[in-house]
Amino acid sequence: MADRWAWIAAAICGIFVSCSPESPSSPESPLEPGNASESLATTTENRTLGNQVLVLIDTLRTDHLPFYGYSKDTAPYLNRLAKQGVIFTQAHSTSSWTAPSSASVFTGLYPPQHGITQGFHATRTHRDEVASSGRDELKLRGLPESPTLPELMREAGYRTLAVTGNVNISAPLGFDRGFEHFEHFRRATADWIRDRVLDWHSKGLFEGPYFLYLHVNDAHMPYEARSPWYQPHEEDVQDALSRYDSEIRYLDQILGELHETLGWEQDTLVTVVSDHGEEFMDHGQMGHKYSLYRELNDAVFLFHQPQRFPGNRQVSTPVSLVDVLPTLLDAAGNAVPLDRVGRSLLPLLQGGESGDAAEWSERVLFAHREREPGPDRLWGAIRGPWKLIVEEGTEQTWLFHRDRDPKEQENVAEVEPDVVRFLGQALREFRENRKVHGTSTTIDLDAELMDDLEALGYTEDSR
Ligand SMILES: [Zn+2]
Repeated sequence: MADRWAWIAAAICGIFVSCSPESPSSPESPLEPGNASESLATTTENRTLGNQVLVLIDTLRTDHLPFYGYSKDTAPYLNRLAKQGVIFTQAHSTSSWTAPSSASVFTGLYPPQHGITQGFHATRTHRDEVASSGRDELKLRGLPESPTLPELMREAGYRTLAVTGNVNISAPLGFDRGFEHFEHFRRATADWIRDRVLDWHSKGLFEGPYFLYLHVNDAHMPYEARSPWYQPHEEDVQDALSRYDSEIRYLDQILGELHETLGWEQDTLVTVVSDHGEEFMDHGQMGHKYSLYRELNDAVFLFHQPQRFPGNRQVSTPVSLVDVLPTLLDAAGNAVPLDRVGRSLLPLLQGGESGDAAEWSERVLFAHREREPGPDRLWGAIRGPWKLIVEEGTEQTWLFHRDRDPKEQENVAEVEPDVVRFLGQALREFRENRKVHGTSTTIDLDAELMDDLEALGYTEDSR
């Protein structure tokens, strides 16, 4: 048992550089502001600047895509990419909603570390205040000062461009940092995003190498009925599913158009991820509320550059959204900052033996979700097929074996005390060692923004 605890400590410290003794000013301290290049480690010898396109499809459930086993052909374009590319079948979000999980993509850190654990989200109190006085404020945390993914890509020599359609992925939270061209419209549909990209294309802004980030929000509620794919149902949940699937089919078509027009078949790494999934009463709720179950915490992970990475492969190694930043920097032949907890997936994309297969399989991944508003927090620890969820305060515990119980319906915490103890210790270390680095920001809240938050499901009654 002593060896086991020693292994746990080593494993956690392997993930957290903050485990090692250090002074606050240590260059390896997580997220010290300053020059990123001072804390870089060279990981790749050959610098290969191709274009990079990162598409984050908001609210996209893995099991509603044909290449993750869905029976309906919701995504012919993405399915083609998957057949020619590499998908990860055990990819995890770091949370279950947009602001914290997307911030993990931008920082390579877990939500309790980058600090964006809340986002645009209005309470009954906010609504009452806006109704009576016309305005109110949201006090939030923005991205940490350390360089984000677009800042690092720009430093690496890329032109950096982004179009986003989610209210959280916007300038007030710092998501615009590092982009030379940044367009955000909180009601943007995929065709609005396409038109912005095509406009830039016509103006010659994609003279490479470029890093393009697209945040596509169509699968997020409210779900439109997209013709000709939507089929009405009398039953509400089935009708919502039909709308949701039609939105996926719609955005898939537009992404396919962009792929062809911008020539992503050549010299371009196309990465497609989702920030979280969506629940359709799997565990008694709709949308993506306070939960870390599979339908919300699993993420889409797809990499396409068949000239470089052997295609038509499914990798079952557990990975996380914190791995996106290191992977994209490494794929660019650029150094990865030492202060991020994610790991480059390049060895797995290249298909060879990574040389540390045991280390990959033993890695513990984490997830975090706050209830808004309120102090309640869910913490997740995932290792191999095991997933532990603990609610802070009540310390109520759920344990699932994802191979035996793919829908995470059977809590086996009582009959697997060793696994609970093991992952529980990992989680305690994670909670105790976390350092929050977000910056403070204040958002003006008016009636129009309140309407948009209502439509997105980003409102909750005060408790
Ligand atoms: Zn989202």
